[in-house]
Amino acid sequence: MKKSLVLLSILLAGLVGPASNAQTNPLWHEQKVKNYLPHMTVPEVRELLTKSDMVIIPVAALEQHGLHLPIGTDYLNGVERAKLVAQKTDILVAPVLLVGQSPFHLDFPGTISLKAETIVQVHLEAVQSLLRHGFKRFLILNAHGGNRAICTYLVDRINQETAGIAVEVGEAIAAFRKTVPAPATPAKTTANATEKVNIRAKVFDRHAGVGETSSSLYLTPNLVQMDRAETAKLTMPKHMDAMVPEVLDGDPATLLVFLAEGLKAKETGKKTSAAEMSTTGVWGIGDLTTASSEKGRIETERFVEAAVAFIEKWKALRPKN
Ligand SMILES: [Zn+2]
Repeated sequence: MKKSLVLLSILLAGLVGPASNAQTNPLWHEQKVKNYLPHMTVPEVRELLTKSDMVIIPVAALEQHGLHLPIGTDYLNGVERAKLVAQKTDILVAPVLLVGQSPFHLDFPGTISLKAETIVQVHLEAVQSLLRHGFKRFLILNAHGGNRAICTYLVDRINQETAGIAVEVGEAIAAFRKTVPAPATPAKTTANATEKVNIRAKVFDRHAGVGETSSSLYLTPNLVQMDRAETAKLTMPKHMDAMVPEVLDGDPATLLVFLAEGLKAKETGKKTSAAEMSTTGVWGIGDLTTASSEKGRIETERFVEAAVAFIEKWKALRPKN
């Protein structure tokens, strides 16, 4: 082709381009993501099946996340983490449900909650479909604290009742998580004091707090409204308040008892639902303005690295048939 013709076709493409774009959905901004089931074609699923029999299924939630994070935080963050893992090692990402078990958030509008039995049943039926196509190994990724027991039970049901083999991701990758390099300890800080700070952050940063806000700032930045973020005022029944010092001292029995009672549905009468304990729905005492995409990036990369390391180990231990 002559140079002038090439130039002309580039000019024409430029003119035609915007006109044809205007005919497509202006709200559609998603990019096709590799190994993400909703974006894939049948030939792409077939092709993946020649390389991998593994599926990662985020078990999510649709629930209030304070004044600044979206209702879909757990769903979105779980799916985004799973997608990041699937870019580094071939594995199918198959979200099944947006909703999880969140009865203790129901006093905030927007929260939807399903019974544990329903969630397990829906995921078991989804696993049966995937088994039929040749997928065999399942990584159940719990994206919401309230689904913990559900995920354990789901993994056991898959292992006991189907041809599939399942693990829970948090449990699977625990040994692969690199320990965070210890920050330079100030002269007067004892190991015990550092431990207390860690426990405090863990116990009182459970929902929509600094940790989750940081994750969202990294994973879904344009959905976070930091200008609306408000540090919550937490209140709890007197006997639970009395447990706090021992919880912060790291006493495992006290922590167990504290969490067994904390954050439960209003109907239980425990007076520990999110709305009864927190002014904003956030279950955290940290200053939300200290959340950052950088903290979220570090946490996400640690997770992805550990998950990939586990998956590679599993592939080596038991190669695909
Ligand atoms: Zn959450």
